[in-house]
Amino acid sequence: MVKVIAIANQKGGVGKTTTSVNLSACLAELGKKVLLIDIDPQGNATSGFGFNKSELKRCTYDALVNDVPIPSMEIQTQIDNLKLLPATIQLAGAEIELVAIMSRETKLKRALDRIKYDYDYVIIDCPPSLGLLTINSLTAANSVLVPIQCEFYALEGLSQLMKTVSLVQKNLNPILTLEGVVLTMFDARTNLSIQVVDEVKNHFRQKVYQTIIPRNVRLSEAPSHGQPVIKYDPKSKGAEVYFDLAREVIGDE
Ligand code: ADP
Ligand code: MG
Repeated sequence: MVKVIAIANQKGGVGKTTTSVNLSACLAELGKKVLLIDIDPQGNATSGFGFNKSELKRCTYDALVNDVPIPSMEIQTQIDNLKLLPATIQLAGAEIELVAIMSRETKLKRALDRIKYDYDYVIIDCPPSLGLLTINSLTAANSVLVPIQCEFYALEGLSQLMKTVSLVQKNLNPILTLEGVVLTMFDARTNLSIQVVDEVKNHFRQKVYQTIIPRNVRLSEAPSHGQPVIKYDPKSKGAEVYFDLAREVIGDE
């Protein structure tokens, strides 16, 4: 049966989308059937696969608000085993429209219940907030994977995220667990990066992945070519480390 992993951190720019796109691609390349759900109105995961958001008619919004079945909206990516439920700007309205809808926190969970035998993994790229889109993601998920950028104030805001996770556990989704914490944009030349790794390991202990994602220019270039890094530059460090992370995630099963 499917494992649903929400990639969440309410801070922007920490590597959620980069991790969602490249982890999904690597899991698929390793033979898993994967659906990537873009639930961020910015739609960066969608454009990261080369899709033009303004040309898409339907998106995650329709699964949440209009009960449109996910299989009718999935699009095939350039990776065989990987499909995408895209985001368009329409999603920006969902946060407000959901407020008035019955069972507003469980809309995504209900939609995913109908496809749970179709995939090995569903990866959800969350927006940088703890609003209803992220709550829907956490409610639909088996686990949450948190990217943390190796920078000053790395741990700031994480207690808020963990509080939200335990509120969702208590009230909406008792099976939700912390999948793991992945350190991103590590720069071995700076003491700060090394310090942050120590700090995060002290705090999250065995929940921190062995794989640390370094700063890698190929990872930042790939989205503008509409490709995950394993297609854009398969020999890059970025491709190597996201394969390592995918193997760790599979190994955790
Ligand atoms: P989020 O989804 O959390 O807002 P992104 O994944 O979009 O964060 O990353 C923010 C920016 O940093 C993007 O421009 C992205 O290309 C870049 N980036 C992310 N991870 C790396 C990395 N390991 N090396 C270099 N650039 C990165
Ligand atoms: Mg993002």
